[in-house]
Amino acid sequence: MMQIYADNAATTKMSRTAIDAMLPYMERTYGNPSSLYRIGQEAAEALQDARCRIAALLGCEPREITFTSGGSEADNQAIVSAARNGARRGKKHIVSTAFEHHAVLHTLKKLEKEGFDVTYLDVHATGLVSPEEVRAALRPDTCLVTIMYANNEIGTIEPIPEIGLVCQEAGIPFHTDAVQAAGHVPIHVKAQHIDMLSLSAHKFHGPKGVGVLYARKSLPLVSLIEGGAQERGRRAGTENVPAIMGMTAALEEACAHMAENAAHVTAMRDQLIAGLSRIPHSALNGDVTHRLPGNVSFCFEGIEGESLILYLDDKGISSSSGSACTSGSLDPSHVLLAIGRPHQVAHGSLRLSLGEDITAEEVDYLVRSVAEVVQRLRDMSPMWRDLVSGKKEFVLK
Ligand SMILES: *Cc1c(COP(=O)(O)O)cnc(C)c1O
Repeated sequence: MMQIYADNAATTKMSRTAIDAMLPYMERTYGNPSSLYRIGQEAAEALQDARCRIAALLGCEPREITFTSGGSEADNQAIVSAARNGARRGKKHIVSTAFEHHAVLHTLKKLEKEGFDVTYLDVHATGLVSPEEVRAALRPDTCLVTIMYANNEIGTIEPIPEIGLVCQEAGIPFHTDAVQAAGHVPIHVKAQHIDMLSLSAHKFHGPKGVGVLYARKSLPLVSLIEGGAQERGRRAGTENVPAIMGMTAALEEACAHMAENAAHVTAMRDQLIAGLSRIPHSALNGDVTHRLPGNVSFCFEGIEGESLILYLDDKGISSSSGSACTSGSLDPSHVLLAIGRPHQVAHGSLRLSLGEDITAEEVDYLVRSVAEVVQRLRDMSPMWRDLVSGKKEFVLK
């Protein structure tokens, strides 16, 4: 039986390069970067080196980089900072979308309880936000636009440079959660008119628990953690030097091989999409062309995503479903609902996120396994029986 890890949007295997870049900072240069003796100062120098290398990869200045504990913290800090800056000038309106990551959505919900007004833009059937609709949503009291670079469930890549330009022309800070994009598609914050950006190392073969918040130097950041003056007062706590070094090496490696990786993974993705499209009463989620190289997201009518995941696991395949059963709720994915999938269809979702080492044979195995499991689940499903007997109407033709 094949073993295929197809959940790279959830997290990735660490690369050898990233692990090797971390070890010296655990075994030898383990000093506290705030200490004055040599191994402390060597750690501080490594940290500064990492900051310069990350800044070069993103197209910004080193002092515009803040190291965080990951994507969630970066999202929280970006949004809370922009909100506090806005509130001081009486601006309490934020523009976002309904299909952001929960790190963004839950932060916005908290701000709404504090009296902020949030406009959630329509993401339409393919998940694409229209820059013109962003422009139309802006108000004199708008203090932030936050729209993700690429969606983690359906893979749609947003027109970020165009949205950034709209915000720049209006003089409104623009934040993007680029956790799914970083290391996978080209990012240049200045050329793409991005004022704040979040990324997370474990989505591009770096370690877990470390990320970056880029914030244009004119945008003051509010510290979420009280304590020491690390990160120029923007994040207290001894810096995670090994993880930061691993992240930096992983991002450099991903960017150096981006074009060839994207070409290969995109070809495998399209082969997988073509294969799964042959399953009757199924539909691809997200945009066909404006799409992350490795993302394949489908809905299959008449089944439950959770059982699909478990049966695929029995076939050696690690995959994911949009529905949030793990959180104890039976609500289907907010992303699939946002693109207009009805509840009963959104429940039958499957996300396969491919790694760079995926092969054509593995794609064939994925297609065969999914088709087989979908058929088996449909044969057992009362929902499916109602559909084929004509008692209920198919949504996906
Ligand atoms: C994974 C992910 C996050 C959270 O990042 P962590 O480092 O796990 O906190 C945020 N946004 C998106 C789009 C993600 O895919």
